[in-house]
Formats: sequence, structure tokens, C-alpha cells
Amino acid sequence: MLESDQFEVAVLGSGTGGYTAAIRAAQLGKKTAIIEVAKLGGTCLHIGCIPTKALLESSGLYHKLHDRGQEFGILAPEVAFDYDRIASRRDGVVNQLWKGVQGLMRKNRIEVIYGCGLLEGDGRIRIGDRVIQASAIIVATGSSPKPLPGIQFDGERVINSDHATLAGKLPESVAIIGAGAVGVEFATFYRQMGCTVTLIEALDRLVPLEDEEVSRALLQAFQKAGIDCRVKARVLDARPGRGQVTVQLEDGELRASQLLIAVGRGPNSQGVGLEAAGVEVDQRGFVKVDEWMRTSAPGVWAIGDLVGGYLLAHAAAHEGVIAAEDIAGRRLHPMEQELVTRCTYSTPEIASVGLTEAEARERGYEVKVGKFPLVANARAIIHGETQGFGKVVADARTGQLLGAHVVGVQATELIAEPALARLFQGDPWEIGRNIHPHPTLSETIGEAALAADGVALNI
Ligand code: NAD
Repeated sequence: MLESDQFEVAVLGSGTGGYTAAIRAAQLGKKTAIIEVAKLGGTCLHIGCIPTKALLESSGLYHKLHDRGQEFGILAPEVAFDYDRIASRRDGVVNQLWKGVQGLMRKNRIEVIYGCGLLEGDGRIRIGDRVIQASAIIVATGSSPKPLPGIQFDGERVINSDHATLAGKLPESVAIIGAGAVGVEFATFYRQMGCTVTLIEALDRLVPLEDEEVSRALLQAFQKAGIDCRVKARVLDARPGRGQVTVQLEDGELRASQLLIAVGRGPNSQGVGLEAAGVEVDQRGFVKVDEWMRTSAPGVWAIGDLVGGYLLAHAAAHEGVIAAEDIAGRRLHPMEQELVTRCTYSTPEIASVGLTEAEARERGYEVKVGKFPLVANARAIIHGETQGFGKVVADARTGQLLGAHVVGVQATELIAEPALARLFQGDPWEIGRNIHPHPTLSETIGEAALAADGVALNI
């Protein structure tokens, strides 16, 4: 085999997990290749986190000016939107970051090989006619939206998050099945843009993986915003027709111009050659890995959505760093799911880390809880965004922070502080001692931490 086809590390898939793994491997002196069938940057950059947050930036601004401008003394009676420009700004944001990733590959001398990579075993990867050899392989092929059995995506009436993200126009009305991250983010976007929105969730609350109080706060905010939320709702069938979709629920039917199915994502584990490489997957197709991201096959690591856990870009990137460091013989820290921050960019935003209150009790902790409402925070009042709260969950016996939950404006920025406190195995008492700048939303976290010991100052 030619020397140019031999690498120390080959990464299959260039999403946030894959390209971060490649950068870390190259930083550690490894001759690295990355293989990508589509565009560098993967789901997060092209059809996920980035374009959807760009859309939400436009919808949030439109909503604030259109529906609340006068409250802030802004008189702009003609506030309107041009969806083509919203879409081209979305694409501009993506392109800017895409160029950035391409530049990072060049800067780190990572060879980018375009094409569909297939593992052949013994460190070989076939990309079309070319076969490369790598001492270590990191598989990072990601995930795809799951369909609902019996209901086909047609990309027009019945769509998934890929279609919704890249759409060139808005539906008049939309029904969304699933109130996880995708469902509540798109419910926010469509509602802020003035569409009629029905949100259908099978379980008994929105964002069922979050703390129960967070779900309640979101439900209240969504209802106030005019989103029709149906929980404990079973979808029996959906039929696209002329100009609309009819969704059959157990307790009646509803019609909307579009149906967005947001019931989770499944691993891209087919057609990768996992079997040939001896990589074991679980019943749902997720690759089994240990806390160093090693698979069952020597010389093969796997990261990101492909391995399950939290299907989040920042978790994937972190796993990529762990895998690359392990390959280079530097076991610095294992992957810990409980340190992954979870962020949902609905309005209000939701962010969390560690255990919910219910999970902490289920695990047998004697729990103490501190909560502080945004309505008592000066900056939130200035923003005119007083819905929500910060909440910390701690072990009453040792004082240690177990989890933190924020629902409200900029929750996704605020979670970094309690996440760091968890990493340092800190206590709410220490967060409370941190001198938070005033007036900032971050004071909500400090006050919630103080509240865990009954000494919040501003409530
Ligand atoms: P999800 O698993 O987060 O939520 C799916 C929801 O659909 C659940 O609440 C589930 O109970 C519900 N559901 C399932 N079947 C149903 C049915 N037949 N009828 C009604 N409800 C049903 O999945 P998602 O929202 O599609 O997101 C996919 C993945 O992508 C998740 O892992 C998510 O964390 C990730 N993601 C993250 C972000 C973010 O972090 N901001 C944004 C988008 C997606």
C-alpha cells in the first residue's frame, strides 16, 4: 500500500464529533484522515443545531418587534418578514462556519477524503476505488430522524427536521408529533412566525426527560403563546391530502397544512461495514462503547450520536477528544454522561446538567432543592422575559450539587456555571459564594444555590 494511503488515525464522518476528534488527533501528532460522504460539518452544521438556531434568531426578533415592540417603546407598525431573506441569512451563517471547519482541517494538516467510507476490517477503509489503512479508526457516522411506523415522509406535507430546517417557505398551520428538543424548538419557531401550531406528545408532559417543574413551566409558556399542546396523545394515523394532512388521534382528528414528525433519531449504523470490522451494536443499532469510546473491535473507536446517550453535538465533540487522546495513549478523563449539559432553544429556553429532582430521589439521595424565579431577577425584568426559574438539586447529607435546571431566557448560557461546579464536585454553597455580576441573569443561579440552604437574598 502507498504511504499516502496509510494513516495513524482515520475518522469516518465529519460532524462535530468527527472533525473535533480529527483535530485533537492531529494536535497529538497523528497523521490523520477524515472521510465524509457529504459536506464537512455534518448534521449539526448543515441541517441541525446551527441552521435551526439561525431560524430561531430571526423568529425571536420578528416576534419581539411585531408583538411586543410597543412595550419597549419601539413604534414600527409595519414589522413584516421576508422568508427568503430569513433562509438566506440561515444559509450565510452555515456557510461562514462551514468555511471555518474547512480551514481547521487545512490548518491541522488533516487529509479530507470525500466519498462513502466502508470499513473492511483490519484497519482498512474503502472509499470508492481507494482503500486506506489506519492504525486507529474513529467511527462518527451520526444519526437520522426516525419515521413513525406506517407514516411516510414525503418532504412536503409530512416532513422531518431536515425538511423543516431547509424549507424555503412557511406552512400556514403545522402539527408536530413529539415534544422533545426538535418538537419544542420548531413549535417555538413556527408560532413566533405566526403559524397555527399543535404539539402532540405521547407521554404526560412536554420535554419528558427534563425536570418535571421545567416541563410545567414550558407548558404554561407555550399555552400562553397560543400553542395547542396535547399530552398523553396517541397518534393512530396520518394521511396527506390536497393542501393538508389529517392526523388521526385517539380522541379525534386534526388537520394542518404540514405534519412534522419529531419522535427521535436513530443511529447511522447500516452500510458502514461495522460487522466486517467486528464492531458490536445494541438492539437499537447504537454502537457499544466503553467510557474511553472503545468499541468491541480492537483499533476501532466510536463517538457521537452513533453510540447513543445524549445525541448532542457538544457530547459528540467531547467524546471525540476522549477517543483521540486514548488513541495517543493519554487517558485523561473518561466520558461521564452526567456531566453533559442539555440545551433546548425553545422560548423559554431549557438547560440542564446532572440529575433531575425525581432522579435524585429515585437514587436514594436525601435531596435539598433551591429555586429562584426570573421574575425576581433585575436583568430578566429589563429583558421583559420573566418566565422561568433556576433550580439546583443537591445531596442534603454531603451538600454536593447533583443537578441544575434552568428554564427561561438564555438558560443555555447560564448552565455552564453549574456544569463547571459539578465537574469540580462543588456544592451550591460554593456557587452562592461566587460573586455574580449585577444586573445579570447569572444571579439567578447564585440565588437558586443560596436558596438550597434557605438563604436566598432577593426573595
Ligand atoms: P427526542 O427523543 O428528544 O423527543 C421525541 C419525543 O417524541 C419524546 O418526548 C417522545 O415521548 C415523543 N414521541 C415518540 N413517539 C411518539 C408518538 N408516536 N406520538 C407522540 N409523541 C411521541 O427526539 P427529537 O426531539 O426528535 O430529537 C432527536 C435527538 O436530537 C434528541 O436526542 C435530541 O436531544 C437531539 N436534539 C437536540 C437539540 C438540542 O439540544 N437543542 C435539538 C434538536 C435535536
